[in-house]
Amino acid sequence: MTGDNKGNGPFIEIQDVSKYFGDFAAVDSVSLAIQKGELFSILGGSGCGKTTLLRMLAGFETPTKGRIFIDGVDVTEQPPYERPVNMMFQSYAIFPHMTVEKNVAYGLEKDRVARDEITRRVDDILKLVQLETFAKRKPDQLSGGQRQRVALARALVKRPKVLLLDEPLAALDKKLREHTQFELMSIQDKLGITFVVVTHDQEEAMILSSRIAVMDRGRFMQVGTPKEVYEYPTSRFVADFIGTINMFEGTIVDIDGERVRINCEETASDLSALSEDPPKRGSTVCVAVRPEKIFISQNEPENTEDIRLSGVVEDLGYFGNLSLYRIRLPGGKIVQVSAQNRRRSAERFLEWNDEVFISWRPRSSVILVD
Ligand code: ATP
Repeated sequence: MTGDNKGNGPFIEIQDVSKYFGDFAAVDSVSLAIQKGELFSILGGSGCGKTTLLRMLAGFETPTKGRIFIDGVDVTEQPPYERPVNMMFQSYAIFPHMTVEKNVAYGLEKDRVARDEITRRVDDILKLVQLETFAKRKPDQLSGGQRQRVALARALVKRPKVLLLDEPLAALDKKLREHTQFELMSIQDKLGITFVVVTHDQEEAMILSSRIAVMDRGRFMQVGTPKEVYEYPTSRFVADFIGTINMFEGTIVDIDGERVRINCEETASDLSALSEDPPKRGSTVCVAVRPEKIFISQNEPENTEDIRLSGVVEDLGYFGNLSLYRIRLPGGKIVQVSAQNRRRSAERFLEWNDEVFISWRPRSSVILVD
């Protein structure tokens, strides 16, 4: 690809990139295309290689193999300062002895931008991150969330085409993190800059991102919108990593069009599920269903199309807006079910050891092979 491609095609293109440390592949043959203006997250557990991949985009690491293009230009061999990229680090790395506005102006001063322009750009960016009234304060006079916004302002003021964020919200408490997530999305939306975020927090990735790459042991397990990776995981790893899911192991015994029947030792009856492209009969598979897709009732459900199982309430947890139930099937398998609490808690109708039915629609589950 060359500079001629500007404006067309992906904005960031990672082509078969690997990074070896000795003979250990921290990143293993990863390919990815990110469009301009996306807020893309790389999600994975500790040590899966996500920071290494981000550092290769920034230019702090060189790939052992593969190429990286940004805006149509091959940047694989370019040093960080030549790339149209800025990185916001895990530890915000803001200067404690400088005021907020000095911190934000620092990069522009180093680049010898004219004084008037620095003042204008710093003012604009402080307004954008809602810190204009804090311009004269030092970092130790700010809250964690405000410090995080100084770091963001400092990264944005240089108008990078791509902003790389390494666990940007990790230091914030839960409430502030939720608030800041929305701020980050709104700023990204206003500026149209392409954001690539590294996080181990699946909720954060789900809320923030236009798309997510789920990473494990140096490889991408799945790339898709938050909805795709949540509703249609393509592997047990992704199903299990994102949210909570019930998995039933079994063997395919019948296929009728899209409808697949799975014999499952953990349940008293066969399970049915839908698949456009089912594995062949006799395959060992796993039927996966999310807790919120399962209905729970004391009366036997009427819909004969649904999967219906009976069990006993082993445990229940009340979380205000919803209740979580752990249902023990006769064979001992525990199934997790969540239900919205539309009624007041005093009227809660299920108790420990109650006999219940659980049911779900065949299209609410997915069949997983890997
Ligand atoms: P975390 O969320 O814990 O930061 P991560 O997914 O960002 O994890 P990386 O920092 O990319 O993980 O590291 C991936 C793997 O590569 C780890 O096993 C790590 O120990 C190894 N690694 C990273 N940098 C180096 C290095 N400079 N030399 C040797 N091994 C390294």
